Amino acid sequence: MSAPTVTVRLTHSAERLVRMEHPWLYAESIRSASREGDAGDLAVMFDHKQKLLALGLWDPDSPIRIRVLHRGKPRPIDRTFFAERLRDALAIRAPLEAQATTGIRVVNGDSDGLPGLVLDRYASTLVLKLYTAAWLPHLPEVRAAIDGVLAPERLVLRLARAIERACEQRAGLSDGALLAGPALDAPLDFRENGLRFRCDPVRGQKTGFFLDQRENRARVGELARGKRVLNAFSYTGGFSLYAARGGATDVVSLDSSRAALDEARENFALNADVPEIARANHTCVCDDAFSALARLEREKQRFELVVLDPPAFAKSRDEVGSALSAYAKLAELGCGLLAPEGLLVMASCSARIDADALAGAIHKGAARAGRKLDEWQRSAHALDHPVRFPEGAYLKCLWLRAAG
Ligand code: SAH
Repeated sequence: MSAPTVTVRLTHSAERLVRMEHPWLYAESIRSASREGDAGDLAVMFDHKQKLLALGLWDPDSPIRIRVLHRGKPRPIDRTFFAERLRDALAIRAPLEAQATTGIRVVNGDSDGLPGLVLDRYASTLVLKLYTAAWLPHLPEVRAAIDGVLAPERLVLRLARAIERACEQRAGLSDGALLAGPALDAPLDFRENGLRFRCDPVRGQKTGFFLDQRENRARVGELARGKRVLNAFSYTGGFSLYAARGGATDVVSLDSSRAALDEARENFALNADVPEIARANHTCVCDDAFSALARLEREKQRFELVVLDPPAFAKSRDEVGSALSAYAKLAELGCGLLAPEGLLVMASCSARIDADALAGAIHKGAARAGRKLDEWQRSAHALDHPVRFPEGAYLKCLWLRAAG
């Protein structure tokens, strides 16, 4: 093991958590640590019988003090270890290759055994997104494993905002840096269920695209025939394209980001060879969703299918209350636009709000709009976003039908 180590003893309840394969340990889980340590040191965890329990990434700068990498017998945390994790992750994703899909989350962080690390593939480009600076000392070994297992043409680095400064200071790495391969002078083309999309992995949100919604987008496509569809928080038009291909007559993409809507238009142009997409009447509205939905209601516009996929409203526990009010408000506004028997699809990517709480907020909003909604389905992340611990289940999507 090349990284310096910190010997750690855990509380009894933390020991149980590790045995249950939970990947996070907060500061209060730690009874003693042999030294202060630096981000990326290897935490070597012992149980109360002095038996080695697990190895993890030590991070003194994060509330999550240890991210568990490996349980059981000692082993080196090196390129061989990372390559094994990559191969295991690839095996789960194999079915996607057969679905004309080249935009794939290859590693979904903690749930794929590489906590705080995401690896997305867009055709032959890989985007590595780090959520903790504890990965920095391991980057050379991680990159060697990526080269060996995936041999990408290009590797782009993205950094969570919270660690941008630390990465700049400690390693001279900035968000959007090109780690390997030719410079990117144009957006990337990739496919999702046969549709062509373009994304910008350097400047785009997340790693350029919201891959987690792939299956929900496909389901919207199946429900869209003959409908007028409103896609609020559309980003680059993911749900809109599926709706158009599914036979929607009119599709409105609504987002506050002009750049995202420009890309949505381009994505429609890219797929103009699909007759249904060429035929659909697609319009973009660049505005704050709350005011635009209210305006559309006043203009008496009505839709048979409304998709609401806002950004996370609750990023911390204190924001849960205000987030639930915002979800209720959105549902109220969305219901105001629903035609009789119209469908409302509402998603939340706030990890702290579960599906029942979201449902509660939606029904509250619907009641305020004087509508009754029947929930007929709940769904979550796509196949390449496995979830192996409760906090990993951030995405919920509810499917509701309005009474006449
Ligand atoms: N549904 C999209 C992903 C949505 S991400 C997909 O399938 O790809 C959330 C989007 O909401 C982002 O594009 C962001 O620009 C937009 N957004 C954030 N706040 C907004 C607001 N108040 N009004 C409208 N759009 C907003």
